[in-house]
Amino acid sequence: KTKLTIGLIPADGIGKEVTPAAVAILESLKGPLQFDFINLDAGFEHFQKTGKALPEKTVETLENACDGALFGAVSSPSHRVEGYSSPIVGMRKRLDLYANVRPAISVPSAQNANQTPVDMLIIRENTECLYIKQEKIETDPASSLKVAYATRKISEHASRRCGKVAFESALKRDRLRQSVPLNQRVWKGKPKVTIVHKSNVLSITDGLWRETVRAVANDEKYKNVDVNEQLVDSMVYRMYLEPQAFDVVVAPNMYGDIISDGAAALVGSLGLVPSANVGDKFVLTEPVHGSAPDIAGQNKANPIAAIRSAGLLLEHLGYPDEALSIYNAVDAVIKEGSVLTPDVGGRATTDQVTKAIMDKL
Ligand code: NAD
Ligand code: MN
Repeated sequence: KTKLTIGLIPADGIGKEVTPAAVAILESLKGPLQFDFINLDAGFEHFQKTGKALPEKTVETLENACDGALFGAVSSPSHRVEGYSSPIVGMRKRLDLYANVRPAISVPSAQNANQTPVDMLIIRENTECLYIKQEKIETDPASSLKVAYATRKISEHASRRCGKVAFESALKRDRLRQSVPLNQRVWKGKPKVTIVHKSNVLSITDGLWRETVRAVANDEKYKNVDVNEQLVDSMVYRMYLEPQAFDVVVAPNMYGDIISDGAAALVGSLGLVPSANVGDKFVLTEPVHGSAPDIAGQNKANPIAAIRSAGLLLEHLGYPDEALSIYNAVDAVIKEGSVLTPDVGGRATTDQVTKAIMDKL
């Protein structure tokens, strides 16, 4: 294919500033690949206007007319709003985007010279765990105080397919690493998958997760991949002290959500890390960050997470060379260090960073 149709869902806050930046980069790619973009509605603002956070038309257009999609960010309120439910969680479910692939990769530069290098890939289960949102609240008759419960779902089906993505990713990363000189690699060993869980406490739910993902490792295809485990709390501890100890990390939905923001801090900013929501039929990529209401509308959001997400989109749609040219252009701008947004120590605007990356393509 030389023409791709991409759905764009900027949604709320800085999503509306960083999605156009990603589009600008795709449009300035050299080579024969062309794009048609379709703008689609979703988000909290759209909900306030229309009563729908995820219009049916958006889901149908993604399913029927798009090769893939780029999502910005949504401003989900922290309090319950009648009739509202997060559209990104909804899209992951509706399109069966069962694994969330989150590379956290640092680029060495003068600014971060004393930062530990990071090159890890977090695979977050994307359809279940506590995010099925089965919650209830009761009043304890004895005390008249409220008690709230949430159901946590872990299935063998979802754990297995997420586990497979982790092992496949480990093999792929290992293949790609072969072209990098050993002294430039952060991860130098055999491919490794670390299974994150808390089955010392949650022996039934996390126990099923752990056993199921471990069983994936028994496949002959993965005989060269090392497997180890890390309890989620010590995972955070170790990741901060020794991020180079991790290659691929696979985690249930909520642990994966939390660990990946932590990994973003190690890399330097949430504004740098992209993610891909992948299923068997569709891929939707998005920055890991949210709508950042504290900086929205000020032209200072870092567009790199969204731009790298456009790269991930091309990678997952089967255009690795185009993806690589985006990653290389981003890396060059980070290395130079003169045109960066305030979150990574610079003074440039969103537009200036986008332009600088464009000039490197
Ligand atoms: P956030 O990721 O929006 O922001 C956290 C901090 O990181 C803020 O200080 C913000 O300014 C900074 N930051 C984030 N992205 C940045 C960027 N590109 N450039 C520079 N700085 C950046 O998380 P939050 O503040 O906890 O949540 C804000 C809103 O976003 C909430 O309504 C939440 O529900 C929503 N949210 C949405 C998603 C999503 O759409 N997938 C993910 C997380 C949070
Ligand atoms: Mn998150």
